[in-house]
Amino acid sequence: MTLSSGVTPRAKLPDVGTTIFTVIGQLSAAHGAINLSQGAPNFPCDARLVEQAHRAMLRGHNQYAPMTGLTALKEAVAGKVATLYHREYDPGSEVLITASASQGIYAAIAGLVHAGDEVIFFEPAFDSYAPIVRLQGATPIGLKLSCPTFRIDWDALRAQITPRTRMIVLNTPHNPSGQVLQPDELTRLAALVRHTDIVLLSDEVYEHVVFDGAQHQSMARHPELATRSVIVASFGKTFHVTGWRVGYCLAPAALMAEVCKVHQFMMFAADTPMQHALAAWMQEPAHWQQLGPFYQQKRDLLSRLLADSPFELLPSAGSFFMLARYGHFSDRPDHEMVRQLIIEYGVATLPLSAFYTDGTDNRIIRLSFAKDDATLHAGAEALCRVSSQHV
Ligand code: GLN
Repeated sequence: MTLSSGVTPRAKLPDVGTTIFTVIGQLSAAHGAINLSQGAPNFPCDARLVEQAHRAMLRGHNQYAPMTGLTALKEAVAGKVATLYHREYDPGSEVLITASASQGIYAAIAGLVHAGDEVIFFEPAFDSYAPIVRLQGATPIGLKLSCPTFRIDWDALRAQITPRTRMIVLNTPHNPSGQVLQPDELTRLAALVRHTDIVLLSDEVYEHVVFDGAQHQSMARHPELATRSVIVASFGKTFHVTGWRVGYCLAPAALMAEVCKVHQFMMFAADTPMQHALAAWMQEPAHWQQLGPFYQQKRDLLSRLLADSPFELLPSAGSFFMLARYGHFSDRPDHEMVRQLIIEYGVATLPLSAFYTDGTDNRIIRLSFAKDDATLHAGAEALCRVSSQHV
């Protein structure tokens, strides 16, 4: 029973439905499927991190944190960034602790993008960017990455930049493709935006999940790009606590001031006891240093297990994800393929078309390997049962 409404709302996002992560998560649960869809670990975080949060609550850290975040946590973030990317951010004015990376993305776009502006982003893309831009009265311009290599077409980007371009959204390591930006691409980007007022919003939530010895190309690394970038990062992805909803932003003080104006009225401040726990946890660099190898093993395990499946795996250089093509054995739309995999084979994945605003369907699904090994074995076994003759 639902309550009938006395008014008809004028939808602000009439064409937007429930996010694919929720839709597929629910379908997967309803069918008891092995869930390789959401980029969230199904294994526990370190119990000592939970103890830190518990202790913080018992010590009475249960009221509002400072608006921009706990000083100890902001200092720990600035220290890590200085060590890894050789860029000093002032914890007082250039680091903001947010209630999830998603909230940081929202605050950055809402704080810096005006009605009538254009925001360029690259598709396939995380599904929140375009709706958040539209909610500002601005226009999202989705530029397609090449398929199946998922690289930026630099000439297309140059052609798309206009006097109305306010922001370019970057994401490395990239969700959903698993590709990472290369140092020479940062150089190209710097040349394109030089002498403009374009702000870069750099979604780096998988910064520590980079494989095969590669180095994460943070905008913080690049002296010129850093001066025009809002970098968004996540504690949830790094410490296996996606449900804690704590992330952070880094930006030069003048940009950060505008982001904070929105943040203060969205959240005021992020969760206090979690910030205390994370500040203590951040003292130990081993926690993020081992993350790349940890997920690389999972990527390799899933790849090995799927070697005899009919799916063609695309290489993943970072993130929690790999893509799998199936167009050579089935012409089913990817949404249908995903439904069939859940209902008939008991394994949940995501359709890549959900990451395109125009629903481009290249007959590709996304697999998350942020799962315990038993789940990867079970999910792969189900995918190996897929016979190219019967779908
Ligand atoms: N970032 C994760 C993913 O891409 C989870 C997103 C979500 O559930 N909102 O799967």
